[in-house]
Amino acid sequence: MLLYASASISELEIPGKKSLVIYISNCQHRCKNCRTSYLHLAYGDPLKYNFNNIFNLYYNYFDIVCFMGEGKETLEDKIEMINYCKYIHSRDKRVALYSGRDTYIEDWMNDALKKVKVL
Ligand code: SF4
Repeated sequence: MLLYASASISELEIPGKKSLVIYISNCQHRCKNCRTSYLHLAYGDPLKYNFNNIFNLYYNYFDIVCFMGEGKETLEDKIEMINYCKYIHSRDKRVALYSGRDTYIEDWMNDALKKVKVL
């Protein structure tokens, strides 16, 4: 289950775009000089209980949903994120994912998320 610490609108993450930025906790990485170490913990509320309300509340104020983190990277978490992404695309918005990993576009992103941009 994905937990989120906060959600807000920002123009910093994607140049020239307004993003609905959702900070996901349970980060599995320990980047040097991490400034959001609270995201290493199981911190925040279950995203599944609030995602639709957040998305609809801010709908007119963003172009892209930007997930900052991907939780525990379990199959369950990936399926949950895939479902959000399908919903976001169905509502004519785009998705970006900051994985925190040195990675490429993986099959689960490519096949299910299609328009995800790995940052
Ligand atoms: S991915 Fe982000 S939250 Fe996780 S350790 Fe790195 S900088 Fe910190």
